[in-house]
Amino acid sequence: MAADAKAGFDAVARARTALQGFEPYDPAFTPSRINLSANENTHELPATFTAALRDAMVATPLNRYPDPMANELRDLLAERHGVERGSVMVGNGGDELLFNLFFTFGGAGHALITCPPDFSEYANFAKMCEMPVRSVWRDAETFDADADALVAAAQAEDAAMVVLTSPNNPTGNLADPALVRRLLDETNVLVLLDEAYVEFAGEDKSLVSWVAENPRLIVLRTFSKAFGLAGLRVGYLVADPAVVDMLGAIRQIYSEDVIAQSVACAAVARREELAPVVADIVAERALLAEGLAAIEGVKVWPSAGNFLLVRLAGASRVRARLRDEYSILVRDFSYAPGLNDCLRITVGTHDENAELLAAVTQLAREEA
Ligand SMILES: *Cc1c(COP(=O)(O)O)cnc(C)c1O
Repeated sequence: MAADAKAGFDAVARARTALQGFEPYDPAFTPSRINLSANENTHELPATFTAALRDAMVATPLNRYPDPMANELRDLLAERHGVERGSVMVGNGGDELLFNLFFTFGGAGHALITCPPDFSEYANFAKMCEMPVRSVWRDAETFDADADALVAAAQAEDAAMVVLTSPNNPTGNLADPALVRRLLDETNVLVLLDEAYVEFAGEDKSLVSWVAENPRLIVLRTFSKAFGLAGLRVGYLVADPAVVDMLGAIRQIYSEDVIAQSVACAAVARREELAPVVADIVAERALLAEGLAAIEGVKVWPSAGNFLLVRLAGASRVRARLRDEYSILVRDFSYAPGLNDCLRITVGTHDENAELLAAVTQLAREEA
């Protein structure tokens, strides 16, 4: 009988053991007037930039398969970073590249070392890939990585990869180049430097130029943040050609669709036009940080990204009331170890930030 057949069916029990605790990722965002929850670029981009991207999109035929290796885009990115095409790999967002890196270089006996609080997808994806995860916690107050502990962890026999995020999400601080240097010199692990937000710190803070001399260094970048293209799903990494070849061998061959490739090409070609937008976000970041810090009971950490980490009493309630009473969405990190009573607020436009500030000023007073 159909009903019995259904009652006896347990898909989870049939799944790969390592995957049995996972649930669908559905943040079920409440549609909000002002969404400052996902570190997207909420600013209007220059009309010439958006027009060029629209033209590229419209001109793209859909009947042919994409170029699996996205060579035109790789060439433009290679030129941008002064490397060869063979040092660039493109992915369906940085997320796909993270997964593929852990799938390729992880597994039993090949551990990932992370520095939480950091991007939760690292541990998630690593666990899916049956890659053991070791946490080297950041300083509870400054969120600086513990250099000696990290180097020691990376010297363990089964250590395969260290991931450092610069600027770090959600704490906003840059990785110390001296620590990256030590990891390259004093250990034998792959060093994954996630620079998803580095444009907001200044391109001079990027260590992508180190890749040429350091085959164990992998630098991850994305179009989702400064480029304002989170919905397009394009990320890339710069690494040794042998690393890129491994990733090229295991990737889902058509994961980067034709529209994503052609629009990303147009975006790279016109990237200079985004400089004023990034400069504006950086200026707004300073204003917002100042405004939040002036509210009694609110602590703001310095940030090199397009977001601010703040701590205030009753953060979860403040977050819910921002959503329900002001239709403003921010990200609650209260549940995360080391981040009790913390919210992460994306830097929005001047008007969005002003509304956020007014609302937090009011709520902080009421929830104190
Ligand atoms: C946003 C983000 C990424 C990449 O996001 P994609 O949209 O998948 O490109 C990678 N690392 C960190 C820390 C991020 O915050």
